[in-house]
Amino acid sequence: MQVKADITQQNSQPLRVLIAGGSISGLCAGLALHCIGCDVEIFERASYQGVAPTFGGVQSHGAAFVVQMEINRFLAEHGISTPETVGMTSCKRQYISGDDSIIWEESTPQVMISWDMLYHQLRKVFPDERYHQRNSVIGFQQSDNCLVVHFEDGREQKCDLLIGADGIDSTIRQQLILDAIPQYAGYVAWRGLVDENVFSLEVAKFFAEKFTFFHGPSMQTLCYLVPGLNGELDEGKRRLNWLWYFNVPDGEQLNAVMTNHQGRVRKFFMPQGEVREEVVQQMRVVAKKYLPEIFQYLFELTDKPFIQPIYDLSVPRMVFGRVCLIGDAAFVVRPHTAAGISKAVMNAIELAQGLQESGGDVLAALKQWEPIQLAMGNYLKVLGVTLGDRFRLGHPFGEFKIINSTDESAKITKQNLR
Ligand SMILES: Cc1cc2nc3c(=O)[nH]c(=O)nc-3n(C[C@H](O)[C@H](O)[C@H](O)COP(=O)(O)OP(=O)(O)OC[C@H]3O[C@@H](n4cnc5c(N)ncnc54)[C@H](O)[C@@H]3O)c2cc1C
Repeated sequence: MQVKADITQQNSQPLRVLIAGGSISGLCAGLALHCIGCDVEIFERASYQGVAPTFGGVQSHGAAFVVQMEINRFLAEHGISTPETVGMTSCKRQYISGDDSIIWEESTPQVMISWDMLYHQLRKVFPDERYHQRNSVIGFQQSDNCLVVHFEDGREQKCDLLIGADGIDSTIRQQLILDAIPQYAGYVAWRGLVDENVFSLEVAKFFAEKFTFFHGPSMQTLCYLVPGLNGELDEGKRRLNWLWYFNVPDGEQLNAVMTNHQGRVRKFFMPQGEVREEVVQQMRVVAKKYLPEIFQYLFELTDKPFIQPIYDLSVPRMVFGRVCLIGDAAFVVRPHTAAGISKAVMNAIELAQGLQESGGDVLAALKQWEPIQLAMGNYLKVLGVTLGDRFRLGHPFGEFKIINSTDESAKITKQNLR
């Protein structure tokens, strides 16, 4: 079934949808709308070349994440490999103390996949001829019955619906709402991936099939296994994905951390290979002081750590005539919710459902769609802030003390870490 454009219904044209941004939310929306018969095209600013050839050379900007039910459902509905077959299953969560002892365990089955893998899975089922890399959308103009999208190279295209899926620094959002600006939360996530085979069997086993956490005052570290660079799931070929949330005051200190080796100050993301060596060295010293040994080793053995400052963003509206915002372009929620991607998926699924139910009446569909998406975004934003506060992230250090456990049997000793 094709969804027909309400403004072009007379000549039975399918609904023409343009999407700015071809990452996870853009691809999910693209797929969902393509499947209901829309004439949809995605325009992605980046060229996504260079780092992981098997996955089309996509820059692994999100490293890895926990798969939520919505993602599972979306993949299954689009005939894409289920996360269990392309990701790593974790059976339980384990919490460790400052001396690497396990102080709490709970059974929480979850699947983790890498950003590369999800992107690759979505990308391979979206028609190539409708996905345009190195295409920046710079703005749009709309009147009652006409919407025109402008591109960096001077081209213009008409459409019935424009979806801003262009992330935290969204050009579309900036044209629509001037005062919706991402707010820095006072801490960054140091992130990294290490090949599993770098560690001893004992350490690899310690992390295998588990989601490991360490909570310190005003900091949190976590780690789980993800597939290898080319999707390998076999023991010894996988990678350990770790995160270390660490307070960095805004201003001079954040600027120092986010200044890359070429002197450029990055705002939302410091990619692999750009973090200055002196900053990494300083963090090694901090890691030695505050982290359990097993996390110190993860940090030390990471070739190219990368940094993601944590931001909050919310918008008062997601719909502006025939233009809407989805994913991180509308709401950026803290990673503790593990919901950034599932939120994007829900935005996409429900938009397609709304358009189908309205028979292609864009304005009616968007009117129905917006309140639920706003409620979900606001809820997740508050949840993320609450979780961050619970770990005192973004708050000044209190008195710091590593809690030592006396349970010798659960200890990983220094000698057998590598
Ligand atoms: C560094 C990083 C790490 C993350 N880690 C996790 C995680 O571990 N777990 C989790 O659930 N979520 C994580 N997220 C969030 C998660 O990736 C997003 O919530 C989710 O992928 C939705 O992203 P998005 O597609 O809306 O935006 P993004 O992934 O930011 O994509 C926006 C896309 O739009 C493109 N673009 C920007 N401007 C233009 C323009 N003018 N024209 C055309 N294209 C444009 C960009 O190149 C980019 O590809 C992370 C996000 C980032 C940025």
